Amino acid sequence: MITKADFDAAQKILDGRCHTQKTEHVFAFTGLMRCGECGASITAENKVKHQKNGNVHHYTYYRCTKRINRHCSQKPIRCDGLEQQVLEIISKINIPRPFINGRSNTCGKNMLKKAPTARKLPEPSENALITAPGGSTRS
Ligand SMILES: [Zn+2]
Repeated sequence: MITKADFDAAQKILDGRCHTQKTEHVFAFTGLMRCGECGASITAENKVKHQKNGNVHHYTYYRCTKRINRHCSQKPIRCDGLEQQVLEIISKINIPRPFINGRSNTCGKNMLKKAPTARKLPEPSENALITAPGGSTRS
């Protein structure tokens, strides 16, 4: 059984993770992804929900801008729902070392053949840092 105290504590954690600062609207995922249905960019907005019991919740919603297809059927998704989707995608990613080293011509073959297990790798001969496209909006 979940007590109200548990619920409130969970909401506080979720709020702290998801809602952005009131003055600076910095959204974690905009600019990094596009709508899976129509390919338009994703925008974010903050919503405040006032409950009858006096609790106030701040939510961040991400939604398709529908600039490519006005009739795109994708609904807005809450921050935590989007995080779940992102985590699922990230958990499936295995970046082959040749790709990191800039030799992407063998990338496709290696992705099919190499098992997703850690192995001893040669020292990188060049800068092997991966940067997110467009840069990160959070440090
Ligand atoms: Zn869309």
